[in-house]
Amino acid sequence: MSILAVLEHNGQAFHRMSWETLAAAQQLAKETNTTASAALVRSGGQSFAAELARKQLEKVYLVDHELLNDYTPDGYSLALRQLIDQTKPALVLFPHTYQVRDFLPKLATSLGKVAVSDVVSHRIDDGQLVLVRQLFQGKVNVDVRFAGEPPNLASLQAGAYRADQMAEGTAQIEVVKPQLSPADIRTKPLELFRESQRAVDLGSAELIVSVGRGIKEPENIALVQKLADALGAELAASRPICDAGWLPMERQVGSSGQTVAPKMYLAVGISGAIQHLVGMKGSRTVVAINKDANAPIFEIADYGIVGDLFQVVPELIDAIQKLK
Ligand SMILES: Cc1cc2nc3c(=O)[nH]c(=O)nc-3n(C[C@H](O)[C@H](O)[C@H](O)COP(=O)(O)OP(=O)(O)OC[C@H]3O[C@@H](n4cnc5c(N)ncnc54)[C@H](O)[C@@H]3O)c2cc1C
Repeated sequence: MSILAVLEHNGQAFHRMSWETLAAAQQLAKETNTTASAALVRSGGQSFAAELARKQLEKVYLVDHELLNDYTPDGYSLALRQLIDQTKPALVLFPHTYQVRDFLPKLATSLGKVAVSDVVSHRIDDGQLVLVRQLFQGKVNVDVRFAGEPPNLASLQAGAYRADQMAEGTAQIEVVKPQLSPADIRTKPLELFRESQRAVDLGSAELIVSVGRGIKEPENIALVQKLADALGAELAASRPICDAGWLPMERQVGSSGQTVAPKMYLAVGISGAIQHLVGMKGSRTVVAINKDANAPIFEIADYGIVGDLFQVVPELIDAIQKLK
């Protein structure tokens, strides 16, 4: 009755959410007194499997077939179905990536199961696993329990689990050769869509000042930029700011943006919607400036200033410059 984490790799590196999924599998295995294993679907992925073999896992399954050279929903769901049939895990965890969203419903249907998608947390109630996911754009949290026989399938929201809590160790690698024929693959992959080059790497920034809709007008962003400059911090933003084109997309933090974990995250005029929080809740210290004392950002902030940012930010800049 073990836990299997199915990981994603683009041929050069593991998707960052793969590590979060691996950490979640290890955590759940510990809490339910079982073992965690990992699977990688990739033709010729020995070196990547070797990287996984240095984690605390029971086994690393390398699902290897030449028809898995390129991602296809047919190939991946057929290969994973065979792996699940063979290894019989109780729970299979996936990162909630675009690729997983593409093939997981097909895989679940082929197993006669439903998949619980976009899980944000879990707990164990009377020895039973309860998964938490969100409805209505994060306004409501719902508890989900699996009914019926395993295997059960779930995908995990970006940032819901912490990759830095992943345990190192050693694991055995088992190469699994699925039965696939060219007739099984009905789609023809074209050239891969590539993300544009990122000029900023918020993921490695130590200090971040992040701006939200409280800033009101694009020309006011200069004020927050000044605060970031005074602190030597990178400037980031919530989604509405990037959607409006006030800052480039690469500066967006959250479930559909970057995940960051700086020493300090200073949120200016950001309400703290769950989609924003999942991208920054790994920050060591969170400071929030918001005029609404009930803004959800204060629930996770270590330090909060309830006030008008147009008053507070200039005073902060002054104070920092004086200190310098
Ligand atoms: C599928 C999906 C994915 C999403 N992905 C992301 C994502 O990656 N990142 C993200 O950020 N969001 C994301 N969102 C959007 C998210 O749900 C919120 O709508 C968004 O985070 C809100 O941004 P905000 O806090 O800047 O704006 P608001 O929620 O409008 O908050 C503005 C805040 O500013 C405060 N304020 C106003 N005036 C002042 C002032 N003068 N001084 C001080 N405070 C002031 C207000 O009190 C308020 O709390 C996503 C949504 C969906 C459905």
